[in-house]
Amino acid sequence: MKGLVIRSSKNNFTVRLIDNGLPRELECSLKGKILKDVVGFYNPLACGDIVEVDEEKALILSLEHRRNRFVRYNQKGQMPQLLAANVDLVLCLCSIDSPPFRPRFLDRLLLQADVSEIPSAIICNKYDLAEKKLLADPDIEERLSDYQRIGIPVFRISVKTGMGMKELRDFTEGKFSVLTGHSGVGKSSLINALVPDLEIKTAKVNEKYNRGNHTTTQSILYDIPGMREGTRIIDTPGIRRFVPMGILPEEVIFHMKEFAALAGQCSYGLSCSHITERGCKIMEAVDAGAIHEDRYESYLRIREELSGREYAGKITD
Ligand code: GDP
Ligand code: ZN
Repeated sequence: MKGLVIRSSKNNFTVRLIDNGLPRELECSLKGKILKDVVGFYNPLACGDIVEVDEEKALILSLEHRRNRFVRYNQKGQMPQLLAANVDLVLCLCSIDSPPFRPRFLDRLLLQADVSEIPSAIICNKYDLAEKKLLADPDIEERLSDYQRIGIPVFRISVKTGMGMKELRDFTEGKFSVLTGHSGVGKSSLINALVPDLEIKTAKVNEKYNRGNHTTTQSILYDIPGMREGTRIIDTPGIRRFVPMGILPEEVIFHMKEFAALAGQCSYGLSCSHITERGCKIMEAVDAGAIHEDRYESYLRIREELSGREYAGKITD
């Protein structure tokens, strides 16, 4: 019988079966079973996966072909980690303050979404703190506007006051999204707002380190009530560091929107390092403000990081 993975940790999975039109949940394992497509992954299955199960034994037998998958490099395990499968949208959640706004982190998420050919959007939460925060740090608003300029949808919201929630709902209606972001930015709060009656525990941001505690250890798929059928969201564990993968250093340029249009146009063509060469279109664009300095810095850092890593290369199916 076929089912949808709606809860996944490293080794345990909840599968939703559709039976006589009625959904039923089953805790399943993969005991002794090796799924051939997922060898070498930190976790074999993700929320959003469609699987074949043996109901009696509560055993997952096989995995259906995935339309896409959102992954990151798990540094601790030194292998790729699946965050979601078969999604329409990657929602990159950040906050204006507590924890601080970190565009470099966003750049990594956006890059990975592009590599996976999944559209993405930025949600900046805690806008109720904006008045005080933006006075002290106007760069945040400037960065958000720049993301919009290069074509990435940006939502400025406050889960606390409800600001921007209507626009966000309209945008996500009918879509299957995956929600990612640092711990403490308000993932649980947002899910609670979208799926009332859930009451997921939210944590006070650890004041000392100004970063969140890890409240979620597994990924969970939620159907969003009151919206068109198929409006779903996957809540992923809060992450400290997002390390992209499945991409070679020289390919990064093709996956950052405002860089891609200039790829190959430097005097030295595709062999340009975009650091010292004369006639480098990327550096000219940075000087002219067509590429934000911060995005250029992100680009260089990500490229550098990917150069030294075995798993940077293409994931083979
Ligand atoms: P998660 O780690 O990303 O799941 O973050 P939580 O949802 O647990 O939220 C972390 C902290 O931020 C909690 O203390 C929330 O009450 C707080 N928080 C969430 N959304 C907002 C918001 O819009 N404004 C403010 N001021 N605080 C918020
Ligand atoms: Zn160049």
